[in-house]
Formats: sequence, structure tokens, C-alpha cells
Amino acid sequence: MIVLLFGPPGCGKGTQSPRIQDWLNIPLIATGDMLRQEIRARTRLGRGIDEVLATGGYVGDSQMNRLLLRRTSQPDCSSGYLIDGYPRTVAQAIFLERLREKRGLPSPIVIHLRVAEDMLLTRLSGRRQCAECKRVHNIYTNPPRREGLCDCGVPLEERNDDRPEVVRARLQLYAEQTNPVLDYYGSRHCHTLDGMRHPDDVFGEIQSVLEPHLVRVRARHNRVNR
Ligand SMILES: [Zn+2]
Repeated sequence: MIVLLFGPPGCGKGTQSPRIQDWLNIPLIATGDMLRQEIRARTRLGRGIDEVLATGGYVGDSQMNRLLLRRTSQPDCSSGYLIDGYPRTVAQAIFLERLREKRGLPSPIVIHLRVAEDMLLTRLSGRRQCAECKRVHNIYTNPPRREGLCDCGVPLEERNDDRPEVVRARLQLYAEQTNPVLDYYGSRHCHTLDGMRHPDDVFGEIQSVLEPHLVRVRARHNRVNR
């Protein structure tokens, strides 16, 4: 199963994605974290994307496709994966479509979390990420057990791309770039959920969207094994 998690920055994807990953037992591909890793490692790719992200822009299709191809070619991705942060453009969606056909995987299920803009700005200004385990906390909505520290014990960091002026640019770009991608998948594959409720309620609705697909995967598995 391929699950694509969509929603503007601050919609709660970072909270929901580990829960979906644990529940379905499939790898999480968080392209934002992969890009930040490249930046920290000061690779050639990393230095290029650092400039783009600092101004609220997006990394180009060919770099993103290369990153995704490299990750999904690993053996843990053979029966499916959850992606956060890709595809960001129709060209990337078409690339993913060819890739998943080649691997014999079913069409992706798109989960789109919708949240109002003023709520996003509040949420983002409180966001702190752990550099070690990548868990995202929020001093308002999802505080760590001890102030300033991740639950794994590592100090939490404010991300450079969570500053207000950068956030506004990201939200603008997000809407411009993502709406055509959601249109590409259409209402048959795309499920838009209200991301403003409690994280437990949002996760419950995600489960009820994915549950019928799980039954289908299990049924096919049983047919093959009979
Ligand atoms: Zn941590």
C-alpha cells in the first residue's frame, strides 16, 4: 500500500505520520527530513537545497525524484510506504505513478489534512523538532514531557523554515503547487480530512479511510496463498 500524506506546513503531518507508520508497519519516507539530512551532511545537493529552502522555495523535480527513487529502491519499500512531502508537483506525481506501476503496487491513497491559515501560523511558531529522532513537538499543542527537551532526551530545535515570513511564503507556494497535484489524483483517490480536531480524532479518521484498503490487501494476499 502507498499512502501519501498531504497538508500545508503545520497541519499535523509530523504528528500523524509516525502513528500511521506504526499502525501499518510500513516505512515512512519524510522527504523534508531527507533534505535536511543532506544539508547537515553538507553534500553538494545539500548546499543547493539549503539556499532554496531558506527563501521558502521548493527543491526541483529531478532532485526530488532522484531522492525518492533512491529511498524506494531499498528492500523495506517493496510492499509499500508512507510518504510525507512528495509529490509536490504533477511532474513528480507522474514519476511516482510510473515507478509504482513498474513495482506492481496499487494506486496511492491520498490523505489531505486541511487546516485554516491563522491556526497554521500559531502552530508553526510553536514547533520544535528533535535533531536525533526527528519527532516534532509543539510547545502549544504537543509539548514534550520536559521543557526544551525531546522525550528521547535530546534538546529540541526551532527550524529555520518556521520563521513567520518564511512560513507565509511556504503556505502560498504550498497552495499554488499542491492544488494541481490533488486535482491530478482526483476525488476517487484523495480524501480530505479536517486537520483542526484533536490528533487522536484525526488519526481515527485516517484509520477509517485506510481500513477498507487494508481489507483488500489482505484478501488479495489470501487468494495468492490459497
Ligand atoms: Zn528525540
